[in-house]
Amino acid sequence: MSGRSRSSRCTSTRSTNRQIVPLSRITAMTASTEVTFRPRLSWATLFDRDGNCTAGTSVCWLCPPADSRRYDRLMRPSPSRFLVAVACTFFFTARLLASGNMPINVILDRGSFYPETYSLFQAIANQVVAQVNLLIPGTPPDVSEDDIVCFETNPTFEASSGHSGPIVLIGPKLAGEPAATSAGTIRIAVNAVQPGFLQRFAFQLSHELAHVKMGPQIDNALIETFATATSYEVMRRLGYNDYVKLAISADLELLPPEIQVQLSSGETEPLRKYWQSQIVIEWNRMDDRPMQTLGALLLKMGDEPRWELLLGISAFSHCADSPSRWPVKLCPPDVKKIAQVGLSLKSLGY
Ligand SMILES: [Zn+2]
Repeated sequence: MSGRSRSSRCTSTRSTNRQIVPLSRITAMTASTEVTFRPRLSWATLFDRDGNCTAGTSVCWLCPPADSRRYDRLMRPSPSRFLVAVACTFFFTARLLASGNMPINVILDRGSFYPETYSLFQAIANQVVAQVNLLIPGTPPDVSEDDIVCFETNPTFEASSGHSGPIVLIGPKLAGEPAATSAGTIRIAVNAVQPGFLQRFAFQLSHELAHVKMGPQIDNALIETFATATSYEVMRRLGYNDYVKLAISADLELLPPEIQVQLSSGETEPLRKYWQSQIVIEWNRMDDRPMQTLGALLLKMGDEPRWELLLGISAFSHCADSPSRWPVKLCPPDVKKIAQVGLSLKSLGY
């Protein structure tokens, strides 16, 4: 199915009564209330702040582990480097096409985003999408390759869905969704990211795209932990390390005092035991962010997961074939089957 057929419809709506926000105010807000945003639409896109490759060393020879001098040389633009970048992009795209899987794509709904910052948010979305496609290449079974429409929630949507977002939608169209969305397609609703919370937007979008990659039809606490781990990883690769530190600290502070002590001591075994004891009780809880963040931290410390194995992983659950009146089913994970595909979860105590 063509991924381009929907994009014209996605750009057809435009709000006429939206408040105009001066760009200077947005810039000031971005700099003061969030972590500073620096456009990364250049060579720096390939590297994080420490000069480490963010595109994967196997993808392109342009992006080896860089020492500082090499990093400095690469940062200097030149026509030849531009040509190499084009060739590299072509090579990577060809690799994806050859694998039989198109990367997913996201189009922001014009009616939901302020006209002054639409391009900025779309540029961030493109960077997030590129990183998620690098981490988890391909499209899972039962997921269309059509463009995904992304919009910001509003009171009508929140009343009709009972959810303030962020969320992936796959079922019937709900009241408050923009004209550009259609029932039965994948849509992503983000929450409170305007006028200028670009990093919050990147964090939410990467989490929801991880759900799309893992299979948005099934959810559980393990899937939520993977989605949270993916969003932190994408943020790191985009260079938003300060945001990651703040978000992780804020979540971990909400864990019980005894876990705070274990976190300070750096002992992982008690943390694993705690995570395991909780997930048995909370396998169907989607909103326990501190638990998800603790799981993401444990995964990171164990150099897990192998990101590419997350594709379609939600299908390994104990209710994959059972009927449900809801578009998204909550089912306990089938950890045995997950292990069979090679996804190690030792860090989480399995
Ligand atoms: Zn989630």
